Amino acid sequence: MKVAVLSRNPNLYSTRRLKEAGEERGHEIDVVDTLHCYMDVTRSRPVVRCKGEALPFYDAVIPRIGASITFYGTAIVRQFEMMGTFCVNESVAITRSRDKLRSLQLLSRKDIGLPRTGFACKPDDIKDLIKNVGGAPVVVKLLEGTQGIGVVLADTQKAAESIIEAFMGLKANILVQEFIKEAGGADIRCFVIGSKVVAAMKRQGVEGEFRSNLHRGGTATLIRLTKEERATAVNAAKVMGLNVCGVDILQSDNGPVVMEVNSSPGLQGIESATGKNVAGMIYEFIESRASRSTRTRGKG
Ligand code: ADP
Ligand code: MG
Repeated sequence: MKVAVLSRNPNLYSTRRLKEAGEERGHEIDVVDTLHCYMDVTRSRPVVRCKGEALPFYDAVIPRIGASITFYGTAIVRQFEMMGTFCVNESVAITRSRDKLRSLQLLSRKDIGLPRTGFACKPDDIKDLIKNVGGAPVVVKLLEGTQGIGVVLADTQKAAESIIEAFMGLKANILVQEFIKEAGGADIRCFVIGSKVVAAMKRQGVEGEFRSNLHRGGTATLIRLTKEERATAVNAAKVMGLNVCGVDILQSDNGPVVMEVNSSPGLQGIESATGKNVAGMIYEFIESRASRSTRTRGKG
C-alpha cells in the first residue's frame, strides 16, 4: 500500500517509527509536511498539492496533527477524505478531541467515568462553580492546553477563586475539575487501536508534581489494566470516533475516570515502556481497514 504520514517533522521519534514500521511491512511510506500541503477545492475533483504537484493517490493517511495546527491540519485531512482516502483518524474526530470540554460532554452522555467538571463564562458563577465540583482543592485547566501546560492545582477556595478570576480576566476558556487526589500524581495512558487497548503504561509525575506528563519529567512503567479500565478506554475511543488514540485515565476511588483522549498519541513513551511494536500495530489496523471498500464517510 501507499501510505502518507502527515507530520511536520520527519525526525520525530513517532514519525520515524511510522515510516520504518510501514516499510518493514512492505508498504511505501511518504512523510508529508502538513503545512506544505495545499488544497484544490474543485467541483468533483478535490486534490491535495505539495511543492507544485498534485500528491499521488494514497491508500491511507496517518494524520499526526500537532495541537498548534489543528485548524489547517484537519482541513488537509478532510481534503483527503473528500478524495476517498482512508484516514486513520477522521478530521471531525480530531477536532472533537482537541476541545477538552466538548470531549467530556460527549463522554458524559455515555456511561463513562469522568472527573466532575464545571465550565462557566461569567465571573459571578465562580463560587458555585467550585462548590459544584466538590470544593477546593480543584484543578483549573485551559480548554486547549497540552503537555501539562495550562493545568493548575488550586489548593484552597481562595486560590481557586483568584486563579479562575485571573484566567477569566484574560478571556481564556477554562474547565474547573474535581481533583483526583488518590491518583497520587499518576495516570494511565491506554493506547487504543480499533476497538482494543494494544498497550498501556502508568505515568508518574516527579516528586511533588501532580501532573504526570512525560514532558513535565514524569516516568513511565508497564501496567496491567483492570477489565474496567480496559473497557473505559475502548468506550471512550468509540465515543470520540477515533481509531487510533491515547486515552488518559486516572484511578479514582470511584473507579477509572477519563481525563482526555489524544488523537495523535506519541509512540516513544509507550513503545519504550512496553517494548511493543505499536507503530507496526497501526499498520495491521490499516491493512484490515483501508483495503475494504468502507471508506471514511468524510463527514464535515
Ligand atoms: P494536558 O492536555 O496538558 O496533558 P491533562 O488534562 O492531561 O492536560 O492534565 C495533565 C496532567 O495533570 C494529567 O496527566 C494528570 O496527571 C494531572 N491531572 C489533570 N487533571 C487532573 C485531575 N482532575 N485530578 C488529578 N490530576 C489531574
Ligand atoms: Mg494529558
